[in-house]
Amino acid sequence: MSPGTLFSDLCALMEKLESTKKRGEMIWEAAELLKRLLQEELMPSTLFLTGKAFPSYDERTLEVSGATLWRVVLRTTSASPDELGKAFDDTGDFGDAVQKVLLKKSSAQKQDTLLSRPPLTILEVKRQLDELAKVFGNGARKRKERIIEGLLARSSPVEAKFIIRMILGEMRTGFQEGLLVEALSKAFNVSSDLVRRAAMITGDLGVVAEATYDGGEQAVSSLHVEPFHVIKPMLAANASGVKEALSEFGGTSAFEYKLDGARVQIHISKGDVRIWSRRLTEVTESLPDVSQQIKTRLDVGSAILEGEVVAVSHDGRPLPFQHLMRRFRRRHDVDKQIQKIPTELYLFDLLYLDGESLIDKPYTERRTILSNLTDGIHLVRNIVTSDVSAAEKLLEEAVQLGHEGLVAKNLKGTYTPGIRGKKWLKIKQVMESLDLVITEAEYGYGKRHEWLSDYTLSARDEETGKFMPLGKTFKGLTDQEIKDMTSRLQSLTIAKRGRRVIVKPDIVVETVFNEIQESPKYESGMALRFARITRIRLDKSADEADTIARVRGLYEKQFKYKASMQPE
Ligand code: AMP
Repeated sequence: MSPGTLFSDLCALMEKLESTKKRGEMIWEAAELLKRLLQEELMPSTLFLTGKAFPSYDERTLEVSGATLWRVVLRTTSASPDELGKAFDDTGDFGDAVQKVLLKKSSAQKQDTLLSRPPLTILEVKRQLDELAKVFGNGARKRKERIIEGLLARSSPVEAKFIIRMILGEMRTGFQEGLLVEALSKAFNVSSDLVRRAAMITGDLGVVAEATYDGGEQAVSSLHVEPFHVIKPMLAANASGVKEALSEFGGTSAFEYKLDGARVQIHISKGDVRIWSRRLTEVTESLPDVSQQIKTRLDVGSAILEGEVVAVSHDGRPLPFQHLMRRFRRRHDVDKQIQKIPTELYLFDLLYLDGESLIDKPYTERRTILSNLTDGIHLVRNIVTSDVSAAEKLLEEAVQLGHEGLVAKNLKGTYTPGIRGKKWLKIKQVMESLDLVITEAEYGYGKRHEWLSDYTLSARDEETGKFMPLGKTFKGLTDQEIKDMTSRLQSLTIAKRGRRVIVKPDIVVETVFNEIQESPKYESGMALRFARITRIRLDKSADEADTIARVRGLYEKQFKYKASMQPE
């Protein structure tokens, strides 16, 4: 069996892509390589070319911090921190810096190492990244470091550069998904419109590429909606309130509760049920109770449904989202988990029924068919109205019950896979913000490499006076604000730890976030999910910042649901 295409061939292509700005040239070069690949190399190669280890719908992530990479690189290249630091300052890119250091060291020793080990293939790199994503829990950092070390030890300088960039999630070659569509269309002689639509329905360009490999245009056009071929979920845009939704949809709209659970896509055919998460990872094994409910309560030959699974406690109250996520991660021992974390399914869409795709039918039709199907399975509560106050009342009711808000749905809206369009508008209740103190900061990467752009945010523990970290963010500030922040933080620096600085707690920032989670990572036991700075509170001093007690209060309020959810 052929060992497959060398990773260095893909790197050579990426070098070429990086060196040109000409679209036509990029498409031609990429198409030439794509044509030469084995079928099973198409998926990883299309991902790598766009700087991803996994498709965007895939729940897996590599979870490797810049600091970890830094340590591994120092060890594998035996460069000194100063040497690597200088290379980084000179190039402004971590991948480039590693390449530079390695080129300098491409002494006999490095050559020997390369010669004594088998060269990396595209499939081998993919395997190693899959391994990397599997590691979590105790000792994860060490195990991750070992995998990356293994990869780097077998890499040439240019391979190391792209491996580093891939781990950081950015290839910086300028080769975007749009160009990849064109390159695939050219390589396999299939119209680019067809490639694009097929990618939406199948959820990934790699899948389309694989189909094209032996079936050409015909295979791509036959990539249609069918059970067990997961569809990239339709997404919702933001709206400021119910009024905006009503005016966007011509005066009348459907409004549904926006439940805070996990989205699932359920496929049924001939008695088999399989379930995928929003990111299209299969979660069937984690949700046997949901499968069971579908099997016993839904009398259909084949169907694709969408809904939200909510974790509930034994007294029927919804539990925080993270409990559900924990269950998604567990594959074994599900029974015990179920007893601990029972779930409730709420359906909101129907994309396929008994041989017919419904994605091109309007919302009202899909919803009506759906409501005629379900026998005892909850549908997400909805109303159709043109009355602002009726919609506002529903929003209030949703928030009272502890839901996130509403999703307004255009009555005529078809289901557009993978698109965050304006047919669905989410109306969320605004979360309260916290005024937190920056206690640590880290230099960024890429264009931010000279700036302290990643901040650790802490709240004050009023009993001890200590500042307790709740999370990190690099989001929310403009470039100018980051520059100014950098000099302020430099003057407040107490200690340096590699690229990280510990600062005197002084700067207060107003922060918003999606959720407060329970977390063993921090001493406070809580962590902010998706924190973003909204304002620098120059008017506040650190001792006026929010306290751990307030954060705990908000955490508890988040989950104080009045009653279990109302089925339709
Ligand atoms: P967001 O994650 O904020 O982009 O909001 C979109 C998500 O809301 C979807 O992916 C679903 O998981 C979730 N959701 C909750 N209730 C509904 C609903 N009634 N209709 C559609 N999506 C919903």
